[in-house]
Amino acid sequence: MAGLLAGLAAHAAEPLVVYSAQKEPSIRPLLDRYTAETGVEVQLLVDQGPVLVERLAAEGENTRADLLLTVDAGNLWLAAERGLLATVDSPTLVARVPANLRDAQGRWFAISRRVRGIVYATARVQPAALSTYAALAGPDWKGRLCLRTSKNVYNQSLIATRIARMGEADAEAMVRGWAANLAAAPLADDTLTAQAVAGGECDAGVVNMYYVARLKRADPALPIAMFWPDQDGAGVHQNIAGMGVARHAKNPDGARALLEWITDVPAQTKLSRLNLEYPVNAQATTDPLLVGFGTFKADDVDLAETGRRQPEAVRLMDRAGWR
Ligand code: FE
Repeated sequence: MAGLLAGLAAHAAEPLVVYSAQKEPSIRPLLDRYTAETGVEVQLLVDQGPVLVERLAAEGENTRADLLLTVDAGNLWLAAERGLLATVDSPTLVARVPANLRDAQGRWFAISRRVRGIVYATARVQPAALSTYAALAGPDWKGRLCLRTSKNVYNQSLIATRIARMGEADAEAMVRGWAANLAAAPLADDTLTAQAVAGGECDAGVVNMYYVARLKRADPALPIAMFWPDQDGAGVHQNIAGMGVARHAKNPDGARALLEWITDVPAQTKLSRLNLEYPVNAQATTDPLLVGFGTFKADDVDLAETGRRQPEAVRLMDRAGWR
């Protein structure tokens, strides 16, 4: 009997371990679906992206991680630079994930897209008064702007890509203007920023759209809306949630299979409902609430810039007085 059980266990699918910077409620129901369809159990270890990257590095070949999931391209770029991610050769992933949303060497792939636009108070701001990120630095916005702290990776990636698009001098002038226009000290997160706009503390802010989508899902009457800046220029800043296979994965084939499954149409549609982000697979269906936010042109700048230029962005924000 013991021999029979051991034999069965050997044939059972190996569990997968995902080191995840995406929080449990935004990803767990999707992984449960994977387990139901394939019989493969998926274990999550949730922490901040940089903590997970350090952990992978410290564990080396003893790591339990098969996959790394982060909510910013900069952290995936960093993990790849440090040799912590394996190259995945998958024509399926190449076909499903647009080239600017994955690593050219196959070390990471987006699983969903988010954009960082302008949240504004519908009672006090006409959309016609909005245009670009840089326009929020102008004198019209004195004392009317709310921003999240510059310590946050979303803002660091936003400014890293602004440096790539505008050049350092113009990006710095913009950030100085933003810092001068603040209505209040920088806030701890995007939800607080959107709530400050809704509550009248300020008239506009810069946030990822899914935070506004969450607030509007809970209270459709909340007097805020999203505006997509830079539509006559490079487009609104885009970032990703994405995954890579760990260099020392115990189950690399299983890891690749999960990545391929997540980028297929049914999983992509379900993920958009769960995390209120945009699918990366163009055949998938975007959550209706997001569809209501309207279409936009997204900046297709190489997302590796978010990692490459992060130190430069951090120094620039510090010099320009954005705390
Ligand atoms: Fe977030």
